[in-house]
Amino acid sequence: MNYFNYQDDHLCCESVPVARIAEEVGTPFYLYSAATLTRHFQAMDDAFADLPHLTCFAVKACANLAVLNIFASLGGGADIVSGGELYRAIKAGMAPGRIVYSGVGKTAAEIEMAIKAGILMFNVESSQELDTIQAVATALGGTAPISLRVNPDVDPKTHAYISTGLAKNKFGVPMETAAALYRQAASMPNIVIKGLSCHIGSQLTEMSPFLESLRKMKAFMARLEAAGIKISYLDLGGGLGIRYDDEDPPHPAAYAAAIKAELGDTNRTLVLEPGRVIVGNAGILVTRVLYTKANQLKKFIVVDAGMNDLGRPSLYGAFHAIQPVHRTTMATAKADLVGPICETGDFLARDRELPLAKAGDLLAIMSAGAYGFSMSSNYNSRPRVAEVLVNGQHFQVIRTRETYETLVQGESIPVFPENDRPLA
Ligand SMILES: *Cc1c(COP(=O)(O)O)cnc(C)c1O
Repeated sequence: MNYFNYQDDHLCCESVPVARIAEEVGTPFYLYSAATLTRHFQAMDDAFADLPHLTCFAVKACANLAVLNIFASLGGGADIVSGGELYRAIKAGMAPGRIVYSGVGKTAAEIEMAIKAGILMFNVESSQELDTIQAVATALGGTAPISLRVNPDVDPKTHAYISTGLAKNKFGVPMETAAALYRQAASMPNIVIKGLSCHIGSQLTEMSPFLESLRKMKAFMARLEAAGIKISYLDLGGGLGIRYDDEDPPHPAAYAAAIKAELGDTNRTLVLEPGRVIVGNAGILVTRVLYTKANQLKKFIVVDAGMNDLGRPSLYGAFHAIQPVHRTTMATAKADLVGPICETGDFLARDRELPLAKAGDLLAIMSAGAYGFSMSSNYNSRPRVAEVLVNGQHFQVIRTRETYETLVQGESIPVFPENDRPLA
């Protein structure tokens, strides 16, 4: 359930007409609903209320400070995958003790920054990474809290690019070698073992892969405890899917109930790393139609947002519902919704029944809150779009639209010794 609804045929975000924001901010822009963000965070957090747990929002899904700040104020933490995300999480008010750090390629500088910040734990993904963490902690004269991210080798039955828990994926440590790595970690003087982690993929619409993974984790944890290795935090990762089209993923309450039934009694703190399920349907991308055109084969609606603003359709063939901001007619026509980028892969919807839109009309690309703005780029030298947050009857720009100046910021024309002036 979200707060994007029609009032008298005008699409509104909470109580604010989307068209009014477009008038003031220009297009395209991402639009988030604070009430929806809050509701979705709480749906997941409340579902585990009867167990010690920590809801660590996966920052990469939607990294804006204002969005992170909402989750921080609700008692949430963060799952980060880079030094930049650590910087954002702390700046947004997240308690460092509620931050877990995942990812296969943490640099020594990023590790140092995270140890100094005092994060909850590193989810370690290889033996060499563990060595680096030990070395950095030694140099700092302190300790580093870790968990191992195991790869349970289960098929999450999702898009190949967002499957992470299969043996052929780059993520995590195979369970067969993880026991030896835990023993190694236990012998390292500057490493403190805190937990066991996994994350098997994204946009999962069934419970069975989660439960299969949990069963393997439980059995593995029993082996660890028998070997005298204590696990205080069990990190189940994220990955719960949302409805983009006709998917029917479990509600967070059903997800939690199934997890708890499989888990049984536990004295460990659960760590959850939801991303998409919280922000996906809490954001839309608003775009304006520039032109319509047709040939013998097809109709095209050309809009001012492109694959650089929302990459999911090109990258994953992802489906996003397209809705008119002002619903004048229910008529539709089969067409492609395309952007201005010079790539054939630049489409937001392909061969779909779309609202009959004409030049100047506003369209809403729904369910764009997750992996939307955060994956956007400057390709084709397009300034990244504005982000706007609605709260009740009010809206505020939470990231200004980039300008041509910010586009070339940091670039320079070099003067080399051989030619002491720029080539004119
Ligand atoms: C991306 C990611 C998540 C979040 O995945 P969602 O599908 O958005 O819930 C959680 N944990 C890790 C380690 C990730 O890489």
